[in-house]
Amino acid sequence: MIDARTKLFGLLGNPVGHSLSPILQGIFLEETALNGVYLAFAPEKDRLGEAVRGLGALGAAGVNVTIPYKEAVIPYLKDLTARAKICQAVNTLIAQGDGFIGDNTDGDGLLLALEKAFGWSAKDKRVLIVGAGGAAKGVAAALAAAGAKELMIANRTLAKAEMLTELLEAHYPVAVEVLTFEALHDRAVYQKAEGIINATAMGMFPHTAEMPPIAVEYIGKKHLVVDLIYNPLETTLLRLAKAQGATTISGLGMLIEQGALAFAAWTGQLPDTQKAYQVLGEKLRERNEQVKL
Ligand code: NAP
Repeated sequence: MIDARTKLFGLLGNPVGHSLSPILQGIFLEETALNGVYLAFAPEKDRLGEAVRGLGALGAAGVNVTIPYKEAVIPYLKDLTARAKICQAVNTLIAQGDGFIGDNTDGDGLLLALEKAFGWSAKDKRVLIVGAGGAAKGVAAALAAAGAKELMIANRTLAKAEMLTELLEAHYPVAVEVLTFEALHDRAVYQKAEGIINATAMGMFPHTAEMPPIAVEYIGKKHLVVDLIYNPLETTLLRLAKAQGATTISGLGMLIEQGALAFAAWTGQLPDTQKAYQVLGEKLRERNEQVKL
């Protein structure tokens, strides 16, 4: 029940109508029996600063940030955590005084999901990442921080992959190779890579027939194929990779575990995520069925 001690948590994005974060964080609040509410806010871009300052002034205990504000929110924060500084993107605001520190739990959320699902660790692995946007940056930095041996980064806009490579090499002892989309037709890439991650929006609803230009014929049993997309739960890439014998996983685990890590940063409690997998999985399957995917 809401009372005078109820803590405020929230989401900043625009639009936020389809976000699963309020359901996810609501489950965590229930699981941990914390007295809090989590609400979704969609300020216009020119009022984002006022929104952040307002949430700070009201003593909000924690805030998530989603598209399109993951970078735009940075000027309104007191500081960034080391991993958020490297990514220059923020998905979590942690209360400090009357303001916030920016953090990024996306990459570690994915690693936690992979560890829970397969006992997979990034240590000494060679991983191909397709994409160099906000999600790719978080994932690449987390892989490098966790001891990945080599990253291959392919992106439509090559300059973005090059910028990400510079960032990674400046902070971690990881070998990074930039690939063009054409180079993704080279069998040697797949002989080298143990993990393959789609961090582009290609294949996301409503463009479900699309997929990144990955040469599926070279994918096999030794590969772990990850799609950061969770709508649909099974993208064209994952369906084809599974047919080739690869181990596959959607972005649902990353969505849930990045939220759990944010919740832990706000409250000091890492919530159990079992119920979240069940409820969000069902919600997404319902959405997929409604549009007959
Ligand atoms: P972003 O910053 O806008 O980056 C988009 C990426 O997709 C860029 O690499 C972009 O390439 C590429 N791309 C988009 N359309 C393309 C096309 N038609 N052809 C080739 N490349 C294309 O977005 P983001 O935040 O990184 O999100 C990327 C994906 O990750 C989305 O599907 C999102 O849903 C997913 N995601 C999942 C989670 C999770 O919790 N599971 C969290 C964050 C994001 P260019 O650089 O050439 O434009």
